[in-house]
Amino acid sequence: MLPLRLKLTYYYLAIIFIILLGYGVAIYLYLTRSLMTVIDSSLASQIERIENQMMGGSGGDAYTLIDGREVMLQITPHLTQIIDEQGQISDEVLASPRDRLPVDMSMMRRLVMGQTTFLTVVTPAGESMRLGMRRVRALEDRGNYYIRLGQSMEGFRFVRLRLLLILGITVPVIILIGSFGGLLLANQALRPVDRITRTAERIGGGDLTERVPEPASMDEIGRLAATFNQMISRLQAAFDRQKQFTSDASHELRTPLAVMRGDIEITLRRERPISEYQRVLSSTLEEIIRLSGLVEDLLILARADVGRLELECRPTNLTRLCRETTDYIAPLAHHRHQQLTFISSISGDIVLNADANRLKQMLLNLVDNAIKYTDTGGTIDVRLDAGDGEVRLSVRDNGRGIAPEDVARVFDRFFRRSKPLADRTANGSGLGLAIVKWIVEAHGGKIELRSEPGRGTEFLVRLPLLV
Ligand code: ADP
Repeated sequence: MLPLRLKLTYYYLAIIFIILLGYGVAIYLYLTRSLMTVIDSSLASQIERIENQMMGGSGGDAYTLIDGREVMLQITPHLTQIIDEQGQISDEVLASPRDRLPVDMSMMRRLVMGQTTFLTVVTPAGESMRLGMRRVRALEDRGNYYIRLGQSMEGFRFVRLRLLLILGITVPVIILIGSFGGLLLANQALRPVDRITRTAERIGGGDLTERVPEPASMDEIGRLAATFNQMISRLQAAFDRQKQFTSDASHELRTPLAVMRGDIEITLRRERPISEYQRVLSSTLEEIIRLSGLVEDLLILARADVGRLELECRPTNLTRLCRETTDYIAPLAHHRHQQLTFISSISGDIVLNADANRLKQMLLNLVDNAIKYTDTGGTIDVRLDAGDGEVRLSVRDNGRGIAPEDVARVFDRFFRRSKPLADRTANGSGLGLAIVKWIVEAHGGKIELRSEPGRGTEFLVRLPLLV
């Protein structure tokens, strides 16, 4: 695979080459055509002058019109001949004997009267010569005669060769300079990409703390580096969370298992009364029930993480679901002498396309928390309301509240702040709110939290009506 810098240079050179080639050919064609026009026009104007003189005129001025334009450049012809009808040269001026050209009458007779014809021939001396010829009627009916002027093309050939030489030298030189310049530019432009690649290789090797150097300018490369860094930061955060999650999870599982093992080992060391066995077994059972709940929660989050946990949505009567759930958990609140009420501000039932089991789990978690973190005798209100295309479900208590610095973290996995109040039900895993958040978001909703330490907490779940 050709490196990008070489590819760029090749493309760049190919473009320069095509432009220069086109430019060279155009210059060459234009110059040769122009020179030819100058020679032809000069020959034509001089033929006309000679004709005028012979007709007894003044010879006119030295200008003539070619394609409607005045031609002012006059070149002294190398050959001037006046030829009569019989092919005899009646008058001749030569710049050098080398320029002599024999008369070919078959060619001369083909000339159209009064019209100048141009032709390029090779002289006996082997030089190329441009001829201008004209057939003219003589005065007083003395027959026709021919004016023939010749201009050696040697100078013209020399100019053409010079031009070819100049083009032949300058084009390769420009291409050479262009290729160095192109390579330099491509190197310069791609250097940051090289740096990014090297850093990316190190990151790929496992070092997620590495960052790609971001160029000062926010051009395409700068934006690429910034986006790349953001991606690595997100990856690092996800990895860290995952690591934290795994270590928290194993810790949560290991500690109670170690305690249970210790309890059972000590109990088994010697014979004990039945009541002692019963005590250890029932406390172990309690712990096993709690651990099963924890494993269940871990499984939910792990599946949610890899996108394998899907909602089973069907039309769900949310009003009934909230009433039944609060009724179900009410004994727990009564046990703590708390007042748990459910109020719906909508007269009819609210029906939502949702996963009933998950919504129930969400509400149970929120109300369970409210009961856990509210003193005995407190109040807990569950309110249902709808409007503006959404359903609002609020769980509010007048419990201990959440410290402002913890508000943003309560939805984190394994985040636990409050020491449980009174009974064992408060002994949570710190996964409840993380699961609640996942359920709300999986339904396309949002969860908000307002809390005042010492005065109470409100969790407000907003679910879109058109789920
Ligand atoms: P858990 O209740 O198992 O500890 P959660 O994820 O449900 O875990 O809650 C995380 C933390 O949020 C709790 O430890 C507690 O500090 C705080 N919290 C949750 N709900 C309330 C509430 N209603 N009042 C006060 N603190 C709460």
